[in-house]
Amino acid sequence: MADTNGKSFSGSCACGVVTYRIAGEPFAVRQCWCRHCQKLSTGGPTHNAFFRTDAITAEGTIASNVHAADSGNQLTWYFCPACGTQLFGASSARPEMRAVRLGSLDQAHELEPTIAIWVQEAPAWVRIDPALEQHPGQP
Ligand SMILES: [Zn+2]
Ligand SMILES: [Zn+2]
Repeated sequence: MADTNGKSFSGSCACGVVTYRIAGEPFAVRQCWCRHCQKLSTGGPTHNAFFRTDAITAEGTIASNVHAADSGNQLTWYFCPACGTQLFGASSARPEMRAVRLGSLDQAHELEPTIAIWVQEAPAWVRIDPALEQHPGQP
């Protein structure tokens, strides 16, 4: 079972078909500028809060798709089949973790990215916040 620590979060897709609750605090909040995330996010990074998989309870039908990453890992991303909203990501290397898309969380949460990864793949026009810990690729 997850260590709840008294903290909890809730979220949903844009159309409301999928809702979820999370018990506990995230391990980290990061933005990812890899090319795959740029495609998923319409040109920006994905913003992800990492929680334990067993801390998340979702309701509603969720669709998924799989991408073979350069690392050899399988990256699965989960989305609402009705509206397309990104909800979660998962790596075959860390099945016990889920990357919860920050935009799907209900306000008001205090989570914000502290780390930017794959910044070498960010478009030239992007200005990445210098306050973020930056990594050219996967740290
Ligand atoms: Zn939806
Ligand atoms: Zn990425």
